[in-house]
Amino acid sequence: MTPASGSAGGVTDAQWSAAVEAVRGLTPGDDGDKIQLICHVNPDGDALGSMLGFALGLRRLGFTRLRATFPGPFELPEPYQTLPGRDLLVPDEQAFSDADLVMTFDVAAESRLGALVELLPPAPCVVALDHHASNTGFGRVNLVDPGAAATSVVADGLLSRLGVALDREIAECFYVALSTDTGSFKFDLTTPAVHELAARLIETGISPGAISRRIFDTRPFGAMKLVGEVLGRAALDPTAAGGRGMVWTYATLADLERHGQRPYVLDTLIDPVRSVAEADVAVVVKELAAGEWAVSLRSKGAVDVSRVAVAFGGGGHRLAAGFTGYGTPGDVVVAVRDQLESCLI
Ligand code: AMP
Ligand code: MN
Ligand code: MN
Repeated sequence: MTPASGSAGGVTDAQWSAAVEAVRGLTPGDDGDKIQLICHVNPDGDALGSMLGFALGLRRLGFTRLRATFPGPFELPEPYQTLPGRDLLVPDEQAFSDADLVMTFDVAAESRLGALVELLPPAPCVVALDHHASNTGFGRVNLVDPGAAATSVVADGLLSRLGVALDREIAECFYVALSTDTGSFKFDLTTPAVHELAARLIETGISPGAISRRIFDTRPFGAMKLVGEVLGRAALDPTAAGGRGMVWTYATLADLERHGQRPYVLDTLIDPVRSVAEADVAVVVKELAAGEWAVSLRSKGAVDVSRVAVAFGGGGHRLAAGFTGYGTPGDVVVAVRDQLESCLI
C-alpha cells in the first residue's frame, strides 16, 4: 500500500483530499477549532484504537480542543484502560455540541451513534472513517474501505496524508485496533498491506507480546468459569444453512452477575464457538437489557452474515456481523436460522 498514490482500496483521491482539507482548514491551538471524535457504541479495540490513535495524531498537529467519546455508559473494557490517548476520552454528555469538525471511527451506521447522532446535523463537516461494507454513507466525507482489515488502516492512511509520522503511542493504539479486527492476524483480510502496517507500527518500539497478552490473554478467573458455563450450553443444528450447520449459545446478565463479571469478558466468546467444525455459522446471543440481545454472527464462507444482520437492522462484514435482537435467545436464534437459507453465498 502506497498511501499517497491512486484511489487506494475503495477510497478515492477526491475523498482523501476532502478529508485532508477538512482538517487542514481548521485552526489548531487553545483558541482554535474544536474537533469531536466519536466511535461506535460498546466500543471494541478497533473503534477505540483507531479513534484514540487518530486523536493523538491531531494533537501532534497542534490541535488541543479535542474530545473523544462513544455513546452509552462511560465504561472502558479493562483491556483498553491503558490505551494511550485515553485522557482525551469524555462521557458522551460532555461531547462538544458545537464542534467545528466531527469525525467518526468504525461506525457503520448512525444507529451505532446512540444519542450522539444529534451532533451530526449541526456540524460544519462530518468525516467518517470506516471499513464496513454495510456503511450507510452518513458522513459528508466518507472514507470507507471495505477491503481494509480495520478502521485503523484508514486512520493511518489519513494521518500519513496529513504528514503525521507514527510514534509509539499512536502505534500502540493502531496495533490494538489492527490485531483485534484481524483476530490476531488470522482473518482473510490479513493482506500484505496489513503486515506492512503492522511492521511500521512495531518499528516504533511497541511490544506486540505485551499488548496481545493484555488484550487477548488476560481475564479474571471468574471469566473463565463463566465462559465454561456458557460454552457448556452451546447447541449444534447440523441442518441449518442448507446443511452447512449452525452452532449457538447465549449469555444472560444473570450469568455475568453470578460470576461477578463485566460484559467485556464475553467479547471474544464467539471465537471458541466459531471453531466448531460441524457448523459454518456461529451465533452468540448476549443480553444487553431485559429482552434485548447483542447478536454476534460469524460464517466460515457459506453465508453472507452481513445480509442476515442487515435484515434485522444491524450490519458488519460478509463473514462477521451483528445486530440487536429482541425476545428470548430462542426467539432470536430461530429468526436467524430462518434467514440463513436466503443469505447463502
Ligand atoms: P461483534 O460480533 O460484536 O464482534 O461484531 C461483528 C461485526 O458486526 C463488527 O464489524 C460490528 O461492527 C458489526 N456489528 C455488530 N453489532 C452490530 C449492530 N448492532 N449494528 C451494526 N453492526 C454491528
Ligand atoms: Mn468495531
Ligand atoms: Mn472495525
